[in-house]
Amino acid sequence: MTTTELQAVVQELGEPGYRGKQLANWIYAKAVSDFDQMLDLPKAFREKLAEQYVVNPLCVADHKRSTDNVDKLLVHNGDEQVYECVLLPYEDRVSCCVSSQVGCPMGCTFCATGMGGFDRNLDASEIVGQYLLLQSLSPKRIGHIVMMGMGEPLLNLDQVLKALRILHEEVGLSYRHMTISTVGLVPQIKQLAKEKLPIHLALSLHSPRDEVRDRLMPVNHKWPVEEVVGTMKDYHRATGRKVTFEYLLIDRVNDDEQQAAELAQLVKGVPNVINLIPFNWVDTGHGFKRPERERVKAFRRVLESKGVNVTERVERGHDIAAACGQLAGMHQGRFARRDRTSEIPLSSS
Ligand code: SF4
Repeated sequence: MTTTELQAVVQELGEPGYRGKQLANWIYAKAVSDFDQMLDLPKAFREKLAEQYVVNPLCVADHKRSTDNVDKLLVHNGDEQVYECVLLPYEDRVSCCVSSQVGCPMGCTFCATGMGGFDRNLDASEIVGQYLLLQSLSPKRIGHIVMMGMGEPLLNLDQVLKALRILHEEVGLSYRHMTISTVGLVPQIKQLAKEKLPIHLALSLHSPRDEVRDRLMPVNHKWPVEEVVGTMKDYHRATGRKVTFEYLLIDRVNDDEQQAAELAQLVKGVPNVINLIPFNWVDTGHGFKRPERERVKAFRRVLESKGVNVTERVERGHDIAAACGQLAGMHQGRFARRDRTSEIPLSSS
């Protein structure tokens, strides 16, 4: 809820409107999750609130901390549908990665979450709830959020945008520090561009060739490489934001120098960065492997020789199964695929 919505709630309960601001301050500025700790509210009012509301709907099913200080939470709302969020402290900032769906219907063949099938969309309270839980673990303010956990955020765009608005207005996060990662749903990218918010958009590209991307990401059959990359370029023109192309490097599938050269050609024309991610091994039954270091270096060299900005994801939380869907999969033992990928249509338009 926004402060305005909280003010309406407190007034309904017979309290003055300014109590809504006090509540917002406890919830969003102090990340307090228990009404009893909100000591400037009268006790009787705190009890009344606790009878009818919860501050954060999420319960923690599992909490792991890696040797490099990454916290990963597996959360649920009192049922068996678990989803993940991760706290990522860096030297100069604290970031977090949250989920937008329980499971995912997109069926990417390299992904642990994709193997588990789809359960449901998360609502805005569950997305904001992940941020607040993680904030309660962090002594420093979380200033960045990436929608890169379980699920395809653009299949749940209304609730994702509602959550990001609350984080912007109530917590004070800059839209410029928010990233949405997508497999490339063209109608929803266009819809997001119309919002004219400076949200950073990252496309999981993974190959400049349709025949390779088809194999990795079923979505490519619907919106092939040229079309989705063109839509990303339009997104840059609409928002002014540099776009990111995520590129998972899989041994002998998409990591050869010829594909690097084609990739450099493909992304030309707008400010962009290519983020290389050597495959974080998970057995999805397709025999995918992580490339050797020399192949990663050679791929990067080709891109850089053609003037492309390249970053390489620093791997964190390896010892706690921090890649998307790995912890949930281990918890549920649900790596056996459920055939539920067609429950959500690929296009909402
Ligand atoms: S990579 Fe992302 S979009 Fe693809 S199946 Fe996994 S969670 Fe879904």
